[in-house]
Amino acid sequence: HERALLNEAAAMATPMPVLDERGTLTYAAADPIGAVVADIARDALTLATSPVLERVRACSGPTCAAWFLDMSRPGTRRWCSMDTCGNQAKKTTWRTRNPSGTTA
Ligand SMILES: [Zn+2]
Repeated sequence: HERALLNEAAAMATPMPVLDERGTLTYAAADPIGAVVADIARDALTLATSPVLERVRACSGPTCAAWFLDMSRPGTRRWCSMDTCGNQAKKTTWRTRNPSGTTA
């Protein structure tokens, strides 16, 4: 059902790029709403059939809701960014292993 709807939407006319006399590029469509829906549907279909979708992950950071694309070779990336969530997780692990907080 959803597939049929997407196919139908994707078949609609997408916005047409129009260059006006001042050199500004705009997008025109006979049915503007339908054109936007068609654009979205085409993107959705491309993404849904793409192998990239298997690499989309949710960040393991406890307070993070980010999604990221795991392009690492083994496909085991856990955080949206090593600089933020990855580092935070490392620090938390370190504190758990060293409850006294002393530096050796
Ligand atoms: Zn994150």
